[in-house]
Amino acid sequence: MNSIDMHVHTSDSPDADIPAWRLVKKGIENNLAGIGFVAHLDLNPEDFCYGSFNAGTYDESITRARIESGGRVSVMKGLEVGEPHIYEEQAKKLVDYSNYDFITGALHSVKGIGMILGSEVYKDGDPFKIVEEYYSETLRMVEVSDIDILAHLGLFRRGLALAGLKYDFNELQLWPETIDNILRVLIERGIALELNTSGLRRKEKVTYPTPAILERFRGLGGTLVTVGSDTHREPHVFFGLERGAALLLKTGFREVNTFLGRVPKAFELT
Ligand SMILES: [Zn+2]
Ligand SMILES: [Zn+2]
Repeated sequence: MNSIDMHVHTSDSPDADIPAWRLVKKGIENNLAGIGFVAHLDLNPEDFCYGSFNAGTYDESITRARIESGGRVSVMKGLEVGEPHIYEEQAKKLVDYSNYDFITGALHSVKGIGMILGSEVYKDGDPFKIVEEYYSETLRMVEVSDIDILAHLGLFRRGLALAGLKYDFNELQLWPETIDNILRVLIERGIALELNTSGLRRKEKVTYPTPAILERFRGLGGTLVTVGSDTHREPHVFFGLERGAALLLKTGFREVNTFLGRVPKAFELT
């Protein structure tokens, strides 16, 4: 296998605990061709990772990882920015985006509702209303944000599953227009859709986005995709990459992407 994982967290974020250089060693052991590292840049005070990002120490981690790689695996330096449509101005005051290979946009909270990845919000509110709002807010995010990749579209399923609620519905049938608009904006703006495989190891046992949405993206002419495991710690390092690649092939994609200096580079899927 020569796969590429474009969503790998390091001990530079408080919710992850493996140093980048150690992940590089594991990547080489697993025959990975590339690792796209990300650190959380969350500026929402409600977020667990709020205020934790340090550009200097993260840069040192990535430099050490590159040395450790010895060129055997491509090391990319990325950033996962939470709610960039709200916090981008602040983010750019803290971070020079031009020093990064890619910027990933992530929706972890919905305005007026709260954090959507935990179970709390679903216990009080109408779950379907929350999911509808999640997609509307995602549309606003992809329309205006300076991002290269849209992370984990459909992450609310994790919260729904944790709350013991129904999560195996097809949102494409419920909000086809909003979802089509999101996918069209991605295509028009050249933003990659990430196939996040972390849901495969959780109760919901499905990728973010679902195969149905991935298929719709392809049907609309989308070609720019990445695969990411959303690795945070053991025992789920690089989890689900092969299944993700197989799903992409089955859906009609022929390539996956990496980013270098914020420019996509395609690799043939095998
Ligand atoms: Zn995230
Ligand atoms: Zn992440």
